[in-house]
Amino acid sequence: MHSEPAVKIAGLVKHYGDKPAVDGLDLTIARGAITAVLGPNGAGKTTTIETCEGYRRPDAGTVRVLGLDPVAQNAALRPRIGVMLQSGGVYAGARAVEMLRHTAALHAHPLDVDALVERLGLGSCGRTAYRRLSGGQQQRLALAMAVVGRPELVFLDEPTAGLDPQARRATWELVRDLRRDGVTVVVTTHHMDEAEQLADQVAVIDRGRVIATGSPEELCRGGAENALRFDGPPGLDLGPLLKELPEGAAATETTPGSYRVEAPVDPQLVATVTGWCAASGVLPERLSVQRRSLEDVFLDLTGRDLRS
Ligand code: ATP
Repeated sequence: MHSEPAVKIAGLVKHYGDKPAVDGLDLTIARGAITAVLGPNGAGKTTTIETCEGYRRPDAGTVRVLGLDPVAQNAALRPRIGVMLQSGGVYAGARAVEMLRHTAALHAHPLDVDALVERLGLGSCGRTAYRRLSGGQQQRLALAMAVVGRPELVFLDEPTAGLDPQARRATWELVRDLRRDGVTVVVTTHHMDEAEQLADQVAVIDRGRVIATGSPEELCRGGAENALRFDGPPGLDLGPLLKELPEGAAATETTPGSYRVEAPVDPQLVATVTGWCAASGVLPERLSVQRRSLEDVFLDLTGRDLRS
């Protein structure tokens, strides 16, 4: 196995005019995993990804993809990576599936085109010109083009933007299968549920820098939104429970018979609450642990205001 990361970025700076789009960004992406790159509009995600693909030259810093310099060693890198751009990169008049077959033929060990077409529901688009495909069909074709050559590493920029739920699921399945086959996947998305569902690792970018990394689990751990809920007889006296909870915790009856305990959720908290229930002769029904979602974490990190 490779110990070298799939992507290693150190101190990346990229300006458009005098405005920094990426401003001293460090990021390491492990091989064989799915990494989601998240960030508000204009945070610098696409610029970073395009630099990894060799489309943009860094103003400062170093970028290595599969150990190669994406600009200086582009010819060696290109056949080993798959790229799905946010828009196009496809000749508008070309026929959908023919284009995919042509792309497959350029690679030594392509995926089975017919199977890929079926998986992504592109069967009906066979001879249709690219420009006449619906937005979702174009999107799925772009995904197919990115993966058909069996790359070691794929970059997917917002692969499910604008897709219907069925196509989103088909895309997720395909991405998981890629990981199973050992492919490294880097995906940008604005769908936090998608990152939560798919990603082994998440990197949050804001104002051209990485401000948080970790697995979705790690990022969601801790924080004020964590809560434990249960149902029981209405009107329970929560005073004695409160005394046993850690400082800063809250316990409320949200609607008659529904209780919410707000505190960092850990096994000890569950033990305290169920211990109190046992001592009070209360059977807690529908006891559930609510953890912070990735969306909560994302908004905490990047703020709730719209970016200009
Ligand atoms: P989004 O989520 O909206 O796709 P992003 O995180 O991918 O955003 P980038 O596309 O990398 O962000 O853009 C970062 C900043 O650089 C933005 O302020 C954008 O306006 C600017 N920018 C991007 N491309 C160019 C360009 N070709 N010329 C000038 N400015 C650009």
